[in-house]
Amino acid sequence: MAQERVVYMNGEIIPESEARLPIRDRGFVYGDAVFDTTRTFGHRIFKLDDHLDRFFLSLKYIRLESPLTKQQFRDITMDVLEANLKLIDAGDDYWVTQRVTRGVPTGDEPPQPSTIVECTPLPFQQRAKYYRDGMPVVVPSVRRTPPEAVSPRAKMHQYINLMLADQEVKSQNPDAWPIVLDMNGNLCEGPGSNIFIVKDGAVVTPREQYVLAGISRETAIELAHELNIEVREVDIDLYDAYTADEAFVTSTSFCICPVASFNGNPMTNPSVPGPVTDRLMKAYSGLVGIDIAGQYLSRLIV
Ligand code: PLP
Repeated sequence: MAQERVVYMNGEIIPESEARLPIRDRGFVYGDAVFDTTRTFGHRIFKLDDHLDRFFLSLKYIRLESPLTKQQFRDITMDVLEANLKLIDAGDDYWVTQRVTRGVPTGDEPPQPSTIVECTPLPFQQRAKYYRDGMPVVVPSVRRTPPEAVSPRAKMHQYINLMLADQEVKSQNPDAWPIVLDMNGNLCEGPGSNIFIVKDGAVVTPREQYVLAGISRETAIELAHELNIEVREVDIDLYDAYTADEAFVTSTSFCICPVASFNGNPMTNPSVPGPVTDRLMKAYSGLVGIDIAGQYLSRLIV
């Protein structure tokens, strides 16, 4: 079993295949759990503290007390990563995730939360085509859960809203990437991803109230400021998307990935990536010390 990844679970580091949750864990039964995910670049973890800060805010939002402190999560994360890095090649990288689930209610006793820290190799090959061709974004009929019901700003286990969107879009085009609208008909976000458009040299993205405040979204905004690119956080409707010069998606795994079209309507600037997106991708690559697109494109199967 020397080739098996290990995970941290409730005080122990164990082989991934031995990690088990009870069937009545509320995280599984009700989605009553939170998580956060960062990634490595060249085997070095990115913005772990920012992800742990967001993780603890998500825990606070669902009134779930963490059994571990932030510092304990930080140390455990580094231990789990260190133990797993020897299992991947130099050119590969990991998603690195922390989770806390509510646990199992037992009689009158409050449930005991379960804590997990785990790593998964990033799917470079599966997604490489997006860096060559751009993402075909499709907007499904499913709308994002409104903040009045469940705030999209917390990163919780209940992803069925975005999974339904994904299934609807992929049933029409398996390569398409879903971006859902909010209840007002404005572009919102996709599974694990934020959306930006570029218009007249400015980058525009939906306001935080309706989306998860992605760490990569924030990184792209900071880089835009450094490059003197104007940033606006405003409502974006489908007219804005169809008439945008360029568009891109941000996420921990994608960092910045160019969009080719919205609902089959190509971006006004057909370059992949467009010039503003390209500047941001280069700046992102400089920040993380890896050619982001190059890492994906090196796995392309032609
Ligand atoms: N939106 C949702 C719903 C997400 O789950 C994620 C992923 O964490 C994002 C956006 C992008 O956030 P980040 O850049 O921190 O990965």
